[in-house]
Amino acid sequence: MKTFSIAVLEGDGIGPEITREAVKVLRAIEPIAGVSFDLRFAPFGGQAWFDHGTSFPAETMAICDASDAILKGPIGLGTEASRRIPVNEQPERAGLLPMRKRYNTYANFRPVYLPPELCHFSPLRKERIPNGIDIMMIRELVGGLYFGEKEEGRNEAGGRYVKETLEYTALQIRRILHTGFQEARKRKGLLHSVHKSNVLLSSVLWNEVVDEVAPEYPDVRVEHIIVDAAATALVLRPETFDVMVMENMFGDILSDLAGGILGSLGLMPSACVGTEKSYYEPSHGSAPDIAGRGTANPYSMIGSVALMLEKSFEMDDAARRVWDALRAVFAAGHVTADLAAPEERGKALGTAAFGDLVVAALKS
Ligand code: NAD
Repeated sequence: MKTFSIAVLEGDGIGPEITREAVKVLRAIEPIAGVSFDLRFAPFGGQAWFDHGTSFPAETMAICDASDAILKGPIGLGTEASRRIPVNEQPERAGLLPMRKRYNTYANFRPVYLPPELCHFSPLRKERIPNGIDIMMIRELVGGLYFGEKEEGRNEAGGRYVKETLEYTALQIRRILHTGFQEARKRKGLLHSVHKSNVLLSSVLWNEVVDEVAPEYPDVRVEHIIVDAAATALVLRPETFDVMVMENMFGDILSDLAGGILGSLGLMPSACVGTEKSYYEPSHGSAPDIAGRGTANPYSMIGSVALMLEKSFEMDDAARRVWDALRAVFAAGHVTADLAAPEERGKALGTAAFGDLVVAALKS
């Protein structure tokens, strides 16, 4: 029997709650697909800093290095707890970004999907999304402002300043564009390239590289859109998009906006695909406002498992079953607290109950 090893990093806040449901789903997939998953739990994130003095302990690094893929819960603490950790040791700076760098996970896939029968979850009026929402956002994940050099100090006048650098090479842009074009080819053959070339030189280079790469994909239609206009269009006309490709910070922000038009960030899974290794995590954070209540929506974490089955283990059938099971639970009329209308809140499913129904749907 084939065995896949998975480093499981539960993370902070709602991380352990939603990871538990993802693990249930992995265990349910084993007999269905005839494989076994060797799950290796390891500390990572803000709690890891308090327990081990670092957000990304050496032991966790070794486990991730030796595993076939990484399943990561959201990390990060509420504002008060964060303040107890030195700025440069906080979990995103000292855990998440180093993980992205270590495994060179340059391509972040963020599916933004709501089938027509679940359109009532969206805050958009039904007539704006008659066919539901179906977009693949692709975010460059290891370049740009988040990884550039930083400097802080005092200027000659004694005032505090900070300088952060936005750097991209043509090579980095080219490889994420290839990812975007290849994805567009698999879907409707439409690629929106998101930029800000009216202001940023990095976007001028981005657009030049788009022009160089596009002739290799004559079957893909390219549309250029400025990032601020893209934000508006996502709300007013989401059906105009199929695949969107963009640099790191644009993708961070626009994909949270995309979670908004779905109705909740709880519907946003993601895959962070690298040259060394890939890891899978919800697009959202650790939601400290609802942590520990058992009400978080685990769709994002279970969807991240489906992406892992597809992209790391080539288990497309099993992945399809997980997607179908997730949607079957909602299609049966169930709702989680984040998606419930005020009058439905009383009957909203908790995190574990949702996971149980996904497992039941998988087995049926
Ligand atoms: P957040 O994404 O954690 O939460 C935003 C809102 O969405 C909250 O109201 C939250 O309750 C809700 N939400 C998010 N996921 C949900 C789910 N699965 N089910 C139901 N509701 C859900 O953003 P934030 O509050 O700004 O950040 C909290 C922490 O997460 C911060 O420390 C931040 O730095 C960190 N963060 C981590 C990651 C990551 O691990 N990749 C990403 C983003 C933010």
